[in-house]
Amino acid sequence: MHELSIAKDMTTIIGKAIGGPRPLDRVNVTIGPLSGISAESLRFCFGEVARSEGFGEPELVITLVAARLVCLDCETEYNAKDFYDGCPSCGSINRNILSGREFTVDSVEFDEGNS
Ligand SMILES: [Zn+2]
Repeated sequence: MHELSIAKDMTTIIGKAIGGPRPLDRVNVTIGPLSGISAESLRFCFGEVARSEGFGEPELVITLVAARLVCLDCETEYNAKDFYDGCPSCGSINRNILSGREFTVDSVEFDEGNS
């Protein structure tokens, strides 16, 4: 599963950033709607991977950002939460993607004195 490998990448990145596995309280991530990542699936996979790799049972806090698109017919720039939203001005679905594919681990939170 796609999200399982993403979850494993996340624990690898986090482990390097904080000097090895330790129980986490919270992990904050940002997902763009065009990233192809299912928030629910990632939440499930990350929970499994985090526990099995020694990161405890952190809460995964997911921020979903809007995609930024530009209409190729009328040049309106607009935000879309859903990839199938058309242009708000003319309804066209001819557009270029400006952003929305992002996936970032923003921060992790843990108790410094608890290791
Ligand atoms: Zn348009």
